[in-house]
Amino acid sequence: MSRIVIALGGNALGKTPLEQREAVKHTAKPIVDLIEDGHEIIMAHGNGPQVGMINLAFESAGEAPEMPFPECGAMSQGYIGFHLQNAIGEELHARNINKSVAAIVTQVVVDEKDQAFKNPSKPIGSFYTKEESDKMAEEKGYDMIEDAGRGYRRVVPSPIPVDIAEKDIIRNLVDNGQVVIACGGGGVPVIREGHSLKGVPAVIDKDFASEKIAELLDADLLVILTAVEKVAINFGTEDEEWLSELDIPTAEKYIEEGHFAPGSMLPKVRAAMKFANAKTGRKSLITSLEKAKDGLAGKTGTIIKK
Ligand code: ADP
Ligand code: MG
Repeated sequence: MSRIVIALGGNALGKTPLEQREAVKHTAKPIVDLIEDGHEIIMAHGNGPQVGMINLAFESAGEAPEMPFPECGAMSQGYIGFHLQNAIGEELHARNINKSVAAIVTQVVVDEKDQAFKNPSKPIGSFYTKEESDKMAEEKGYDMIEDAGRGYRRVVPSPIPVDIAEKDIIRNLVDNGQVVIACGGGGVPVIREGHSLKGVPAVIDKDFASEKIAELLDADLLVILTAVEKVAINFGTEDEEWLSELDIPTAEKYIEEGHFAPGSMLPKVRAAMKFANAKTGRKSLITSLEKAKDGLAGKTGTIIKK
């Protein structure tokens, strides 16, 4: 039996809420396969399209109150968690496995001195004209950038996670045999102000948040499930080569050579390396949702180790 943190990618959830309600039924099966095999499971998930949708809905609905970005993130954790706990709960019940599933609204602590705050880079929400953009920058203090000729957009920082406020409750649930969903969308980013935690408009990469919770809970394995079965070098070219194993020095070399796309495969490889490097015996696995069980059995996927 292993303690496993699973990071679910966008393909596990689909795009719209109705699509998601169907998608999670398929997502639940490979997850419950692992629970059935006796593993302790903590799940994190992305929220890019979902938080974008919530943010856009409030921005464009005339009479809606202003909805700050951290609150949008918390809302996305809520409804994604609802769908996942509903579908996984149903699948557990169908297999007569007596466990409960809890989605925890998770606050992830970031450092206000993180360099990312000086260089907001993650575009969120809709596109605006130059005039609208200038007005938003002035009235709301938003950072705005011109996004690839398509118009102006708000950008927020993407800091690295330093701690998870709910780690003790998450550990308690897992120690007691329950299934936990946490750090959805990378968690709601908060900074410490004395004794309080304050939500900040930022986006934490869900692959790094998953790595952090895996470290804090002393997991054996970090499993990043995405749309591809393995990590490749020369991805999408004639010389494409799928990797079964990757050690840290080789991964560093491939990163330098630019094999992993920033914003998609690069954060996964970096999170996988960080976890594998943190303590002897730890490994990470990157594979597809469908192949999770085969990946754990060593039949496929990319294993990242020291
Ligand atoms: P997720 O929603 O799971 O985080 P992303 O789209 O962010 O998914 O990242 C996974 C995608 O990264 C893959 O589906 C693939 O298209 C892309 N990708 C970029 N570089 C590579 C690579 N070197 N090997 C495999 N996949 C890669
Ligand atoms: Mg991603």
